[in-house]
Amino acid sequence: MLQLYLWITMSMFRNMIPAPKKKIVGPNEPQTCRNKGCGKTLKEKDSHDTACSYNPGLAIFHDKMREWKCCDIHVKEFDEFIDIPPCAKGWHNSDPMS
Ligand SMILES: [Zn+2]
Ligand SMILES: [Zn+2]
Repeated sequence: MLQLYLWITMSMFRNMIPAPKKKIVGPNEPQTCRNKGCGKTLKEKDSHDTACSYNPGLAIFHDKMREWKCCDIHVKEFDEFIDIPPCAKGWHNSDPMS
């Protein structure tokens, strides 16, 4: 009987834990784009296939050099690095899981 009792408490316990809900974001709710080099605040309805300018590759910081792997641009100063125009266009990426 003990096993049955355990099974019942476990199934009760399981029912008490809410299933993880996917956050549903409304079309007018501002979100932050997660693409590197973009970071704009966007609304779902404003996103289209060239709305986002971003760098798809890695940003690499050396001692005296900063570079974008994707467009192979190397600069010395952080200010210059910020000013490098992103090399790709696409959809904004507001998915918090990626
Ligand atoms: Zn790039
Ligand atoms: Zn973006």
